[in-house]
Amino acid sequence: MPAAGNPCGMRGENMTTNKEPNDPRDPAARRETRETSAAIGRIRQMEALYDRLLQALETDPTRLGTEEALREAARTLSEYQTGGDWLRDYALDEQGLLPAELKRGVLSQDGLYDLLCRPEVAAALAEEPAWEAAAENEYMRAAIREATEGITGRHGGPFGCVIVRDGKIVGRGHNQVLRCNDPTLHGEIAAIRDAGQTLGTFDLSGCELYTTGEPCPMCLCACLWANIDRVYYGCTIRDNERIGFRDGRFDRLFGGREAFGDYLVCIDREACLALFDAYEHMDRTGY
Ligand SMILES: [Zn+2]
Repeated sequence: MPAAGNPCGMRGENMTTNKEPNDPRDPAARRETRETSAAIGRIRQMEALYDRLLQALETDPTRLGTEEALREAARTLSEYQTGGDWLRDYALDEQGLLPAELKRGVLSQDGLYDLLCRPEVAAALAEEPAWEAAAENEYMRAAIREATEGITGRHGGPFGCVIVRDGKIVGRGHNQVLRCNDPTLHGEIAAIRDAGQTLGTFDLSGCELYTTGEPCPMCLCACLWANIDRVYYGCTIRDNERIGFRDGRFDRLFGGREAFGDYLVCIDREACLALFDAYEHMDRTGY
């Protein structure tokens, strides 16, 4: 996340420094004092608003997806003349996510709320969560980031996935079962489809897949059909079960994992467990 500078670009204290005391008998000096006090008051007010905004958005990244936090942020931003500048700090402008109305300072509170609800905006505003930073493997970090985008946008469970070939991410995706009403739209499936489009082939030989949760039987078969070389996962099937998913039940139907040997490799489980914990504490819909 870019450094969150004060959107006002100046602080109240600066207004009082380097200034000679005014002669109180001079009307021009009295006016200047009044104007200075008013300016300091406005700046202090904006600083207070800014602190509230930071509290709403940054003290707990898992709150980013809650309606209460987003309404508070929209309310606070709408009180700013310079809310657009603050959002610009997050490179939203470069990503083409800042609406023209916001740039002109005429976006309504509801408009700001809708803007903050967009998953890509939430992802851009989200400070790198502790669980993402905790992963040692860079590709698992990318998979966790995908999962984080999914849970903050309420797309589905905490399952993100990337596919890597020759050290480069060629596909990515996250669970979107709830968003798309599609029970098959798991993170692995989304990433396999994305990699196929990127590489222009159905054959993903030479690719490795990183996923935050051990693949369910459907996704495991999809990896085999796609000729993926190896699968790295964070949380285990038991971990998936612990947060309410039915992986274990289905896996027992298909005879467990013994036959797969080192095709499935567990890495960065602790970081992924922290992601699962964050998901468990969110206001969420189970399925
Ligand atoms: Zn799956």
